Amino acid sequence: MKRTFEVEVDEDELINELLQYEEREFLSFMFRLLDAKTQNHHWFHFMLAVKDREEQKLYLVADGGENWVPDATLCQFGTCQSCGSKQVSWAKNAVCEFCSGDVYLT
Ligand SMILES: [Zn+2]
Repeated sequence: MKRTFEVEVDEDELINELLQYEEREFLSFMFRLLDAKTQNHHWFHFMLAVKDREEQKLYLVADGGENWVPDATLCQFGTCQSCGSKQVSWAKNAVCEFCSGDVYLT
């Protein structure tokens, strides 16, 4: 049974709570949040990306699922088989957020 709560939360306290999340746990949370936040938009979808500061490259964060420890890090890199975009994930198999294609990472 699902319950709905309406609570008053201080934004700083919320941010501090989210900062306690481990990397995979936080990214999974963000995927859920961004999906929910954009479900009523017809022409765009928020996505997560990271910038490699040394190489000045952009990688889309690919959802590797939640069957991993919460502190799994973004350490797997690859290219989407369908759209060719550069990807990073915490898993060796993930789903491209851009085209929903399969991504194999190493
Ligand atoms: Zn793709």
